[in-house]
Order: sequence, then C-alpha cells, then structure tokens
Amino acid sequence: MIIDSHVHIFPETLILNRKNLLDKDLTFRTLFSNNNAKMVTAEDLIFNMDKESIDISVILSMGWQDSGIVREVNDYIIDSVKRYPDRLIGFAGVNPLHGNAAANEIDRCHKLGLSGIGELHPDTQGFNLSDKNVMDNIMEVVQENNMIVNTHSSEPVGHLYDGKGHTRPEVLLNFINNYLDTTIICSHWGGGLPFYSLMPEVDCSLKNVYFDTSATTLLYDRKIFDISVSLVGSNKILFGSDFPLVNPKFIKKHLDQSNNSEVDKINIFYENAKKIFRLESFI
Ligand SMILES: [Zn+2]
Repeated sequence: MIIDSHVHIFPETLILNRKNLLDKDLTFRTLFSNNNAKMVTAEDLIFNMDKESIDISVILSMGWQDSGIVREVNDYIIDSVKRYPDRLIGFAGVNPLHGNAAANEIDRCHKLGLSGIGELHPDTQGFNLSDKNVMDNIMEVVQENNMIVNTHSSEPVGHLYDGKGHTRPEVLLNFINNYLDTTIICSHWGGGLPFYSLMPEVDCSLKNVYFDTSATTLLYDRKIFDISVSLVGSNKILFGSDFPLVNPKFIKKHLDQSNNSEVDKINIFYENAKKIFRLESFI
C-alpha cells in the first residue's frame, strides 16, 4: 500500500488557458512561466498512480492569489474526489488575504468533501504565515471542521528554484505555535525544521506536525530518509511526491533503498497518512 500525500492536478480549462493566466496570478506566473513545468488532469494522475502502484493520492491545490482560480481549481478537486472516491483525497486552495470570503470558501469545500487546505504559498500569495491577524480567520474554520493544513516550506540556504520563497523553519514554527492543536503538514521536509526538533521546546511544538517528502530528489541527498527518521521518528513523515513535478517512483526508490526498518517504511508509505486522513474505514 502506498499513499502519496502531495500531488497537484488542474482542470483542462486552466491548462489550455495557461498563457493568459500568467498575468493574472503571481503564484501561477512563478510556478508555470517555464514551459517545462508540467500540468496534469485527474485522469493523467490516475493513469500514473496505476502505473506506479500508488493506491491513494492527496490532491492539493496551490496558493493562488486570484479568487477565480482558487474557486475553479477547488471545484475541479471536489469533482475529481467524487469521481474517484476510493483513490483521491482533496485539499482546498485558499488565499488568507481574502478574509471572510476565504473562510466561506473553506467551509464550502469541507461540506463538499475536502479534508484540508493547501498547499499554501505565503510568498507569492503575499501574506505572513506567522501573522495571527491574517491567519485567525481561516484557521478558525479549519479547526471547527477538523481539517488539515499543508504549507509550502523552504530551506534557508542552498540553490534557488521557482517558488522557493521564505517560508523557512522560523516562520513555520511561529505558525505552528499559534495553532498547536491543528494538524499541520510542512511540505518538502519543512525546509529543514526536523533538525531543530533536537531542541526540546521545538520538539514539544511539533506534536501535531508532519513532514512530507515531496520533491526530495530535487533537493536532498538520499541520506535524508535515514537521518530524518532518526531526528523526528518515522511516525512524523508522510510519503509525498509533488507529482507531476517529480514522479513518485523516484522518491519511492530512495525510501525503499534506505536503511530504515520495514515498520518505519510502512509508517512513511501509508500508516501515518491512513491515520491523519482518517482512512481506517476506507482501506
Ligand atoms: Zn511546495
């Protein structure tokens, strides 16, 4: 069993309209100006899941600025989860700067079957993830509905790439400390936050925090799978790819070939995801 906790899909209308949307939304422009940046539909995703033996994928939106794109992609994610209920879990896109409209959009998406919000992209969306004045409004709805948050995370050092941004361990930890009871997934290994779990007070803050392995092969040496398990434990790590940016087969290979025990691998491949996405009765 494999659950991929981090993939992105797009409605065909958006893919066909790609050129025009570059001017409309900074997140879109940052991530998709390069023609090599792939965009896929739900059908493309299911095809690849079948090919690579991925049982379930968590489809995330992105941190769009534009309310029209937010809603169009959310509607597509809702529809895709309805069409593939035993293969897909969905998260809603949201721009916290949209205030009450953002809170209402989260509530609408939850009623229509989505499990969380994200992936948030604070840099291109133009908000500070640490700022309670901006985040309280949407986090209230997230907490009321027992939803999960996935946020983009970035390393404070190293090479630059499209969309890297400044959502670094310090910002992430401030956000986490503001909402300790919420399940938060820091994507891309939390930009290195697992290392700081060696500080007891940081470890305490990470009670409801998970780290996904998305885009690992573009960022880190494969040793990260062994080192991170020794830092935070395999019960805090979720297998995720960032498909179509990275094919899950590459990340699967690094985890399979790591020195981790079978139990640790099973936790990362699906046990943790099964628990936090409440799939016990599902599979
Ligand atoms: Zn990301």
